[in-house]
Amino acid sequence: MTPLTPMPSDAILKPTHLPLVEIRDLRTHFFTDDGVVKAVEGVDLDVHANRTLCILGESGCGKSIMARSMLRIVDSPGRIVDGSITYRAADGRTVDLAKARLGSKELRGIRGQDIAMIFQEPMSSLGPITKIGKQITETLLLHRKITKAEAKEIAIEMLNKVGIPNPAERYEAYPFELSGGMRQRAMIAMALSCEPRLLIADEPTTALDVTTQAQILDLIAELKDELAMGVMLITHDLGVVAEVAEDVAVMYMGRVVEKGDVYSIFENPQHPYTQALLKSVPRIGGERRRRLPAIRGMVPHPLARPSGCPFRTRCDHAMAGVCDVEVPELTEVGGSQVACFLHDTEVANG
Ligand code: SF4
Repeated sequence: MTPLTPMPSDAILKPTHLPLVEIRDLRTHFFTDDGVVKAVEGVDLDVHANRTLCILGESGCGKSIMARSMLRIVDSPGRIVDGSITYRAADGRTVDLAKARLGSKELRGIRGQDIAMIFQEPMSSLGPITKIGKQITETLLLHRKITKAEAKEIAIEMLNKVGIPNPAERYEAYPFELSGGMRQRAMIAMALSCEPRLLIADEPTTALDVTTQAQILDLIAELKDELAMGVMLITHDLGVVAEVAEDVAVMYMGRVVEKGDVYSIFENPQHPYTQALLKSVPRIGGERRRRLPAIRGMVPHPLARPSGCPFRTRCDHAMAGVCDVEVPELTEVGGSQVACFLHDTEVANG
């Protein structure tokens, strides 16, 4: 278990540039035969260059759908129904990815080149019957004006950089000839070969053993520093968050309920859900044999979304007539932003 010790607050500098991506009021819904599933329901987020933003939440909280919305790869019957995803290109030009036409040259250019995504399951990105090297060179040739020989050279260099032994040999290997950890590295090599400005990593290490997990997280952190890349890391693992995040956004039922720098979130969580999540993780040096508190109740069925605050059915502080009536918006509390009526001055003052 990774100790929950994020970097000290004075080590976390505030971002100095405009965000790479600004997500505003994003809503992605799934139109099923049984009703509308509001997988993402009004998300506001900023992602910055040279910083790692961890999106934290339980399974089904909408974090992966939110990330897939950014690249417009949400499977049917899901679609973005509202909001904007403003991507700021290297030349300062902005593109609203939420409104970009699917299949357009602009969107294809950004996907893979400017924004790359890696998944928990490497075979989601790697074709099963094409050699690793060929897959990387094809990506490079699609996005960069280089010769085949140059693409091969870069691909072998990338395989080497991600820690694949004998990269020239592995260049000729098929994905099934590599171990799980090596396939994960190959997928990262492919994603990073075009030197993206933003890497979205969706639970990239969940299926791996702890040693490989640590190596891959270190590798992403190194490449982030080297390329000044923004990283959005989706995880449900607080140990991973403590280790790599500068910024954290906690999601519950398709909404961001708290966001801030990692130190503020870990040292002074404000939202009852964040507090409960942090309490439910064992700490090194913690009291032995103590039962860890679980979060009361279950996440409601996505088709039975509660009125008002989505967390109210599990919250020990829910206030009748308040929390069941309106959805709380994010407001500044200390170093974080929190969506909870406990921090609403109007509610507090009666
Ligand atoms: Fe709990 Fe109400 Fe805050 Fe929601 S708004 S987390 S129900 S106190």
